[in-house]
Amino acid sequence: MAARPEPGRVELEQELEWLEDDEELWHEDAAGDHAGWSCVRTEPFPCPAEGCQFVADFMTAAHLILVWEERDDPNLLRHAERAKQVGRNPRIVEYEPSFGPSASYYAWEAAGRPVHAVRAD
Ligand SMILES: [Zn+2]
Repeated sequence: MAARPEPGRVELEQELEWLEDDEELWHEDAAGDHAGWSCVRTEPFPCPAEGCQFVADFMTAAHLILVWEERDDPNLLRHAERAKQVGRNPRIVEYEPSFGPSASYYAWEAAGRPVHAVRAD
């Protein structure tokens, strides 16, 4: 066995570690009680990540329902408008925890907009 590690592999592992730290920070930031916030219900659409079977009924990021504090947030309206243009029939509804895990849109944006939370092992 070679005693020396393969440089490429070491780099990859370091990068994954960093991504995990970042993701935890994001979840910590984004988590919370978002009941009464607004989210966007849409026609079912599959997760854009390759090979992923997840189908969303809401506007989501990394399988978390994106929520906005204000129903008339211009950013929320802009996203709903875009969903409408691609035929996803968006409806702005009040978020309820029974819908599934949520994430604050602005926490998601601040985290660099991660699109997928599922890690490859
Ligand atoms: Zn996915």
